[in-house]
Amino acid sequence: MMTDRTAELNEIAEQVRVCTRCILYKTATHAVPGEGPANAEIMMIGEGPGFHEDQQGRPFVGASGKFLDELLAHINLKRSDIFITNVVKHRPPNNRDPYPEEIEACRPWLDQQIALIQPKVIVTISRFAMARWFPNEKISAVHGKAKRFGNFMVVPMFHPAAALHNQNLKPVLIEDFKKLPKYIQDAKNASDASAEAPKKKDPPAEQLKMF
Ligand code: SF4
Repeated sequence: MMTDRTAELNEIAEQVRVCTRCILYKTATHAVPGEGPANAEIMMIGEGPGFHEDQQGRPFVGASGKFLDELLAHINLKRSDIFITNVVKHRPPNNRDPYPEEIEACRPWLDQQIALIQPKVIVTISRFAMARWFPNEKISAVHGKAKRFGNFMVVPMFHPAAALHNQNLKPVLIEDFKKLPKYIQDAKNASDASAEAPKKKDPPAEQLKMF
């Protein structure tokens, strides 16, 4: 049976498919809203759909998708365990970088997906996704390192496609992926701890009168 959250996630995808908030929909073949379960603990965010993704309307197809499956297998996960999406849901023409105003126009869709899924870990695999949580940082300096934002951790990583072009990055990505189960546990521990923390008591009425 479809859960409410799955239905809401599907509804976001439907709205993305007819979105005209920026010009990217005009040149794209298909929107790529994202894919994965509503209760995914890991959310992976790329830049925008590539050629094959645009053709099929699905994220991470082709060679880098196969490599992603391999990376996930290292931590006993499958593609269907994680949610994959992009900062812009329509492909920029000729693979150009998305413009700031396009990223901004598309941001509410990503925000809604994050709010609904409530992942434990967000893995950014693009400059533009990383910049949201790690502005002014270099991927070479921060890849594989987690930073906590509220109830989730954000971990920047190299894009799997980059490792296909540069074999030296392959072991780096594998090692970074192997850290994810610990980061998920860290995020769970942190949210359990904040749920258990005693709530600040209201000041007694006498004290209130003083102000
Ligand atoms: S890229 Fe995002 S904001 Fe632009 S038309 Fe597509 S869904 Fe809408």
